[in-house]
Amino acid sequence: MTPILYIVIPCYNEQQVLPETAPMFLSKLTELIDSGEISNDSRVMFVNDGSRDNTWEIISALSKENEHYVGLSLSRNRGHQNALLCGLMEAKDMCDITVSIDCDGQDDINAINEMVKEYKGGCDIVYGVRNSRKKDSFFKRNTAQLFYKLLSWMGANVVYNHADYRLMSSKALNELAKFKEVNIYLRGMVPLIGFKSTSVYYERNERIAGESHYPLSKMLKLAFDGITSLSIKPMHIITTVGIVIMFLSLAGIVWSVVAYFLQQSVAGWASTIALICFFGGAQLLSIGIIGEYIGKIYMETKNRPRYIVGERTWEADEKNADNSTEVSGNEE
Ligand code: UDP
Ligand code: MG
Repeated sequence: MTPILYIVIPCYNEQQVLPETAPMFLSKLTELIDSGEISNDSRVMFVNDGSRDNTWEIISALSKENEHYVGLSLSRNRGHQNALLCGLMEAKDMCDITVSIDCDGQDDINAINEMVKEYKGGCDIVYGVRNSRKKDSFFKRNTAQLFYKLLSWMGANVVYNHADYRLMSSKALNELAKFKEVNIYLRGMVPLIGFKSTSVYYERNERIAGESHYPLSKMLKLAFDGITSLSIKPMHIITTVGIVIMFLSLAGIVWSVVAYFLQQSVAGWASTIALICFFGGAQLLSIGIIGEYIGKIYMETKNRPRYIVGERTWEADEKNADNSTEVSGNEE
């Protein structure tokens, strides 16, 4: 059976690039349909993220022009991650596979062929990974690298140099739907799903038109969301620092008492220093311990699934039975 593919594309104020990139997505889709790789029910799905320009008008016009274009519009701007999640959740019940991609033409659409091939080879998630960041500015390249290092040090499992260009099967999406958290960072959440996954590599280009919606402030927010929604390591750091300072303050207390007895201090100095040291250490340690509990509460409130079943023998049996009836059906 040829799979139904939905290419899911979040768009925010993209009236400049959409008319140029939409036909590119469509031609890739028709190429795959014509070669028999995917079903004719496949679609290019645009998610308008509360744009203030003519993006939605363009999407509506496209959907009237060709049945392979579909679109949906959010009630207001909710940001890239939310718009993308919305598109994926809408698409998952109508298709077998989704490929999420930005609408600015930066990601090479030819990688989709290889992604579909990997899916047919048994992968449920295929990450699009850029070969190099030669075309990024010096600043973006280095800050991005620093961010990946920081994330992996914090214990978050992210795929290096992978943005949100990826193939996901409806099976993987049904599991993603069980992640109930509100602060979403898809790049960090998708690897948590598991299943067989792989990466395909591509060259990332510059934006075809318009400008980036990720200025430094949004990049920092995404980075901060990434760290805080995947890891509670910052709280462990506070606790560790608290313990270290507690020990240092003990040394400080001993020192002030010794100085007092050696009469190298003015009256009242030793007791003041001892108290400052003691309370400094004790307070930081207490904050750290409270933080540990808050961290646990935070993780609990996310309501994430505790396990995800990959395969069941009895389901495999059913599938085989289905296939054999299909074959016998063809023979008739
Ligand atoms: N985007 C969105 N909502 C937003 C910001 C961006 O849906 O609030 C979309 C945007 O239209 C594009 C993708 O997210 O398809 C990535 O944005 P952009 O290309 O501006 O980011 P960059 O590639 O510069 O990181
Ligand atoms: Mg872009």
